[in-house]
Amino acid sequence: MKDILSMNFSEIEGLVTESGQPKYRAEQIFDWLHRRGAKSFDEMENLPKTLRNELENHCYITNVSVEEKFLSKNDETEKYLLKLGDAYVESVRMKYKHGNSVCISTQAGCKMGCKFCASAESGFYRNLSAGEMCAQVYNAAGISRHSALDAKSPGITEDNRGFRAKPAEIRNVVLMGCGEPLDNFDATLRFIELITHPNGMNISQRNITVSTCGLVPQIHALAKKELQINLAISLHAPTDEIREKIMPIAKTFPQRELISACRFYTEKTRRRITFEYALSKGLNDIPAHAKFLAKLLHGLLCHVNLIPINKARGNFSPTPRRDIEIFASILKEKNIPTTIRRSLGNDINAACGQLRLRRKEIAICPFHHGK
Ligand code: SF4
Repeated sequence: MKDILSMNFSEIEGLVTESGQPKYRAEQIFDWLHRRGAKSFDEMENLPKTLRNELENHCYITNVSVEEKFLSKNDETEKYLLKLGDAYVESVRMKYKHGNSVCISTQAGCKMGCKFCASAESGFYRNLSAGEMCAQVYNAAGISRHSALDAKSPGITEDNRGFRAKPAEIRNVVLMGCGEPLDNFDATLRFIELITHPNGMNISQRNITVSTCGLVPQIHALAKKELQINLAISLHAPTDEIREKIMPIAKTFPQRELISACRFYTEKTRRRITFEYALSKGLNDIPAHAKFLAKLLHGLLCHVNLIPINKARGNFSPTPRRDIEIFASILKEKNIPTTIRRSLGNDINAACGQLRLRRKEIAICPFHHGK
């Protein structure tokens, strides 16, 4: 059986022509899957019954169900614990002045072991398919009619087709949930192809952000694709010595190699890279660290996003606001564009992966824990 939500437009065209149907049927199928959030072939009422039966016999549509949903009282952020077949993942919808953003997961769990991340705690379970990434976006957009919780939520009305009457417009998609997107490289690229397709959601590449802990070979490979997406690097340290304490990947790819890959990326794409830097008291937040960081990033087309830690977690504790501002001002003095991130959804919180940890029976992976 083929996962039709992960198939690209030309593969669906191939499927249709193999069945002896005209090519325009591919547009109709793609529209049902990627604009209307159809969950069964029966819903595709403008297709002939013979084609629907044929699709049913050879393909399936990825199903997503909302296990839990949290709504922030402060800022309308919604966080979802989703079940995708045998895996639990999280995604978040955030409301900004310029439109809605969805943060999606690319893997169930993660192999990278970053010390500050809840996704790392239960190890790696499996990669998600491109269709499973799309399904998270469609759930957040409200075009899926299969969310049991949505059906119960007050104020949600459905038209006579069963879709939510007013789907939320999704403007930005951020690949920053559970998992390392570049460790699931092919599915991530395919997801970008699907979500930007003019017959589907048609989201601009410039409104898609891929976040990585710094997989150097994949950054080179991504650069060669010359996409116009945004690349964010989780840096979090001004030196290898500090980075190795919190991000095991730093032992494989030291900063010299990482920054060189970033330079190559900016040369190929002409896109500015964002460096994510979470400040933790006493670890990476003193003025000397800011000066090291400015030196490391000197001359690179980039931007630094400073992330305040809200609560103590393990060995990480919040940096006082005043020290964050001093850190930012040192970077700016050295001509490194810098912002301090606004935190959304604090009351429903959570570092990515925390909801998923409740489902340990699924989240624990024999591959990781057997080592
Ligand atoms: S921060 Fe990202 S790369 Fe690191 S463990 Fe968490 S999900 Fe994986």
